[in-house]
Amino acid sequence: MKDKTRQMSRRDVLRAGTAAAVLGSGSAGHGMDDATPAQREVRLEFLLPKEIVLAREACPTVFQPLGTIEWHGVHNVVGVDSLKAHALCLRAAQRGGGVVSPTLYGGVGGVNQPHTFVMDPEADVFSRLLRPWLEQLCREMARDGFRAIIMLTGHYGAAQQIVVRETAVRMSRALGIPVLGTPEYLLAIDVNYTGDHAGWGETSLMMHLHPGTVDLSLLGEPPHKGVGGRDPREACAKDGKLLTETIVSRLATLARNMPTWDDKKLDGFVEAEAALVARQISAPRGKGNIWTAWRNIGSAMREYGKLLSAERFEEIKACAAKL
Ligand SMILES: [Zn+2]
Repeated sequence: MKDKTRQMSRRDVLRAGTAAAVLGSGSAGHGMDDATPAQREVRLEFLLPKEIVLAREACPTVFQPLGTIEWHGVHNVVGVDSLKAHALCLRAAQRGGGVVSPTLYGGVGGVNQPHTFVMDPEADVFSRLLRPWLEQLCREMARDGFRAIIMLTGHYGAAQQIVVRETAVRMSRALGIPVLGTPEYLLAIDVNYTGDHAGWGETSLMMHLHPGTVDLSLLGEPPHKGVGGRDPREACAKDGKLLTETIVSRLATLARNMPTWDDKKLDGFVEAEAALVARQISAPRGKGNIWTAWRNIGSAMREYGKLLSAERFEEIKACAAKL
């Protein structure tokens, strides 16, 4: 009886268009290009204990998508950050291995617009809610036998990025396993995405990952309320596909390889990530603009995604020093 309920609910989920899209259903016409005939279920909350054990034996990596509820212009749904992070993690896990923990909604900051839940203040690098929650999630994932953790944040105010990366570095050291904490855009700077808010990049990603959720016709002339970065009227699914492909291929490589890293490689990774977040934390010298270390991120960190997936950590350290 229990099994029947479970199968019913899983089928119900599969019937929903967006679920079919994230699972890479070819028939929906917007699944992954590399879709295999039967996509593996990677959503942790839908796995049986024996399926988790099998998935973990094959690749002991767990993804933790992070996002929030936040205004993303009149043309986007308010779950953009969470929905894109989750969809990217699902694709990466299906391709590279691992499972995907349910998205954590809520983080540091958010724009001063309606329908925005702010759990820690915008520039609060001393986060009292997100940081301990992430720490405990990492500890529980390690306790459950996962040997690598990828926290992908689709929400990226400066303090959110700092808290996620700094926590990942500290948990890597404390748990002795690689924990990566990064916004997705950092993996795609070399394809000209330096992060925006409901602009060209995020909107293009949504048009590819969750077709039907974006309505560009609602946009008038700029300035667009609560939107930052390149004009979202230039967004298109094709660009979203390129960004997705770039981000997912790097995440998949990391998911596959991170659990195999020896102590030396782990140390190299941690030092590079620590150098990056140290620059981000200290660049404002305690009083200046929290975005100080982002001024030249497009050039200084352009190769980050490539270098990280190729495990060229010394070079990442050198890039971070230029921020
Ligand atoms: Zn966003």
